[in-house]
Amino acid sequence: MKLCSNKYCVEVFPEFSPDKRASDGLASKCKTCHRDYYRQNKDRYNCGKWSKENPDLARAAKLLWKSNNRHKTRQMNAESKRRHPETSTKYRRRRRSAIKKATPRWLNENQRAAIKEFYSNRPIGMTVDHIVPLLGKNISGLHVPWNLQYLTPQDNAKKGTSLVGV
Ligand SMILES: [Zn+2]
Repeated sequence: MKLCSNKYCVEVFPEFSPDKRASDGLASKCKTCHRDYYRQNKDRYNCGKWSKENPDLARAAKLLWKSNNRHKTRQMNAESKRRHPETSTKYRRRRRSAIKKATPRWLNENQRAAIKEFYSNRPIGMTVDHIVPLLGKNISGLHVPWNLQYLTPQDNAKKGTSLVGV
C-alpha cells in the first residue's frame, strides 16, 4: 500500500488523488494532507481572485486560449461531456430553446434559408454572434438574419451578453 509523503500523516488508509506528473499516477500526499496543506496556505494561492475582479478580461483570455488550443479544447469538451452528460445536454437544450424562442413565426422561407446560409458560410476561426443578444439583460434579440454577425472569439468574449456600441 502506498504511504503518504507527509511524515506527520495520521491517515491509516490514505487515499490519493490522481496526479499525471507522478510516476505512479498518484499524488505523493494523501487527500487529507493535501486538503490541510491547502487550508494552511490558502493565501498563497490566488484562488481565481484576479478572474473575479476582471471578469471580462478573464473571459476573453479563456476564449483566446481556447482558440489557440483547439485540439486540447476539443479533448477537454469531449471529456467533460463524457463525465457530465446531463450538464452538456442541459446547456445544449437551453441554447436550442433560446434560439427557438427568439425565432419569430413570421420569418419566411428565404429568411430562414438566409440564417442557415449565414451559419454555413462562417469563416474559419470566426463565431456567429447575435448583434442584440438572445439572452440580453434588458432586451432580447431575435434569431433573424439581420441580427447575425461574424465575430472573432476574442471580440465575442469582450462583448459578452452586453450591447456594444448601441
Ligand atoms: Zn497524508
